[in-house]
Amino acid sequence: MFKILQKTFSVGSATADYPHLAPHLSEQFRGCPEFDFDAWSDARPAADACPTGAIAVRDRDGVRQVTVDFGRCIFCGECEQVSAGTGQKNPVRMTQKFELAVTDRRVLILRAEYTLRPDGSHAELQKVTSSPIAEEPGKRIQAAIQNLLGRSLAIRQVDAGSCNGCEQEIVALNNPIHDIQRFGIHFVASPRHADMLLVTGPVTRNMELALRKTLAATPDPKVVVAVGACGISGGIFGINYASMGGVDAVIPVDVYIPGCPPRPEALLQGILLALGRVWHRLGSHPHKLGMRELLPPPRPDSMF
Ligand code: SF4
Ligand code: SF4
Repeated sequence: MFKILQKTFSVGSATADYPHLAPHLSEQFRGCPEFDFDAWSDARPAADACPTGAIAVRDRDGVRQVTVDFGRCIFCGECEQVSAGTGQKNPVRMTQKFELAVTDRRVLILRAEYTLRPDGSHAELQKVTSSPIAEEPGKRIQAAIQNLLGRSLAIRQVDAGSCNGCEQEIVALNNPIHDIQRFGIHFVASPRHADMLLVTGPVTRNMELALRKTLAATPDPKVVVAVGACGISGGIFGINYASMGGVDAVIPVDVYIPGCPPRPEALLQGILLALGRVWHRLGSHPHKLGMRELLPPPRPDSMF
């Protein structure tokens, strides 16, 4: 017993202080790419190399529109590699940014327009539209954390067809390092007990009905969080005979968490962002409203 106590005190707390403090990131960790649109002399090699179509080019009347969709990006780094040889300064650079969760899917898409030279390279940057991610300021998340202590949040995780990479990171949320329960957040086995659906994977056609029924079985007010490139857009799997693409192709989504897979801190950021949506729908702090009274009775026709 004494030895256990001695070890406990010598090791201290293993739990990370995120989101109050920045997480410790390994040098190998790769976040999203960053684009210097002014310095980008030709987007075609990156578009050709991108395995998910996150970078797309469309030429029309001597003008090229380049689209970068962070909701499709799997952070593979191919665009950085192929762009390295196309100019003196690499216009595409992989970063360690991972706090990318947004409530509006459109915010994840950047568009740049270039006039073209005869050889197809970029002559001049005309405009860049949409702001790069970071839609939600840290302030709102901080407020959500403070409010969090007022009640618990129950999450039902739904695997709609993922490769299980996202699940590995979700499982890590429960370990002593990330310890999501310190926020009063816990995972439940039934959507009937859930406030939030955390959905991973492209939605396979076999899972479409189950996903719809899971949403119907979740009491209001509820939020849906789409996890990873697959959950947002279908990711590397896309849309095909077996996959319907992103979660919002089947049910409405409140928060999108990019990544492949998103690291646990990125998941936590997205979950906290989603909490803001719950309170927004309630119009106030749930404690003041007596949230449980607002919940509808169970639906007997559900499969759950
Ligand atoms: S890092 Fe993203 S944008 Fe770049 S090639 Fe990979 S998937 Fe495409
Ligand atoms: S986003 Fe990546 S890790 Fe997550 S299910 Fe899709 S392929 Fe797997």
